[in-house]
Order: sequence, then structure tokens, then C-alpha cells
Amino acid sequence: MSEFAFSPSPIAAVPIIGASAVFPVHRIYCVGRNFAEHAREMGAEVSRGTPVFFMKPADAVLVAGDVPYPGATADLHHEVELVVALGVDAEGTIDASAALELVFGYGVGLDLTRRDLQAQAKEKRLPWDIAKGFDASAPVSGIVPVAQAGHDFSRRLWLEVNGAIRQQAPLSDMVFSVAEIIHELSKLFTLKAGDLIFMGTPAGVAALQRGDAFRAGIDGLVEFSGRIAR
Ligand code: MN
Repeated sequence: MSEFAFSPSPIAAVPIIGASAVFPVHRIYCVGRNFAEHAREMGAEVSRGTPVFFMKPADAVLVAGDVPYPGATADLHHEVELVVALGVDAEGTIDASAALELVFGYGVGLDLTRRDLQAQAKEKRLPWDIAKGFDASAPVSGIVPVAQAGHDFSRRLWLEVNGAIRQQAPLSDMVFSVAEIIHELSKLFTLKAGDLIFMGTPAGVAALQRGDAFRAGIDGLVEFSGRIAR
């Protein structure tokens, strides 16, 4: 292989709970409108037709330190989500019945959103990238390997901000299951070990302010906490 013209950026990585090795992030896929009540609060129709997908850059993951309040917004929103970490390269389209075999583990993360820019993009029928894919827009917990986590979608997903609950729902409320989402994504992209999938958020999305402390979790699985920088 040719020599790089300059040193490449380091590979983004997420801790693995109970291991010293870290999880190297390849891509971040996100699912939109995957909880009916959240879709309704955003004024969208809930559809079992085709899931809504968008992406964040791999280096949007944030695993330590304060979350910087991004520029170009006055309305930074939280969206707490189940994060699926893939540990096997997919070959072609993956059947839903075999999809969970690709899963390395699970975590919880925030799909941070510049809601004002997203509203403008929706109004003008423009892409969501600047609303969703900004630097540090994906704070995430460590990944719990499947050996400990299992595939239990009865657990409750929740987010507290400054000690008050903002969002909570059982993972079983998801419109599209993890297996269905892996199947659908595999028709559109070549899925690889290192991919993260943010599975969509329940109702209760709201603004975060500078200095806010958050705690996000999935009961019996994992939790993490952090703060929005002042
Ligand atoms: Mn989301």
C-alpha cells in the first residue's frame, strides 16, 4: 500500500465493559421514528413501511469528558437510544432470522440533535446531516458483550437530566426490531464489524442547556452519565 501523505486520524473507539480491548467504530447508522409516540410528538406519521435511516460520522462518538455545546444551534436536543454494536462483517443481505448473529454487544447512547436546524431542513426538504452529524453528537456508554447482555428487549430505556426523568420506554416499544433493522440496513449498505446502530428514541425529547447533568441507561444492562459543558 502507498504511504499516507500525512498521519491519518486515529480510529474512533468505544470501551467494552469487562475487557481491556476497545471497540473500533466503523460507521454510525441511526434509525428515525422507531417509537410511535416520539414520531407523533415530531408530527410524523408512524409507518411500518420502510424505516428512516441517517448517519453520523464514526468520530462523532464521545466516551469521556463533557459534551461540548455545539455551535450553530439554540436548541440542542437529547434522544436516548439503544446502541447495537456489530462484531461480524455481513455478506450481502442478512435475513432477519440470522441478524442477531452479527451483534457484538449493546450499549446506550444519545443521538444529540440540533433541533432548530433539523426543523429548517425538514421544512426545506434538505438533508439532516448538519442537524445530526456534528462533532461529539454521539455520546455513548461502553459496549456490553452479548455473552453478558443477551438479546433482551424487554428492558427499560431511560434518560434523566439533572435528576429528573425525561424519557423512558421498554425496548419492546420499538416499531422495527433490532433484527429487522439489521436486515433493512444490509439491503442498503455493506454492514461491517465496528458498525454502531442507534435504534431510535422514545417520546420526551427536549432541550439540553449548558451545565446540564445527564444519566442514561437500560435497566439491567448499562448506564452512563455526563455533563453538557458550560
Ligand atoms: Mn434519534
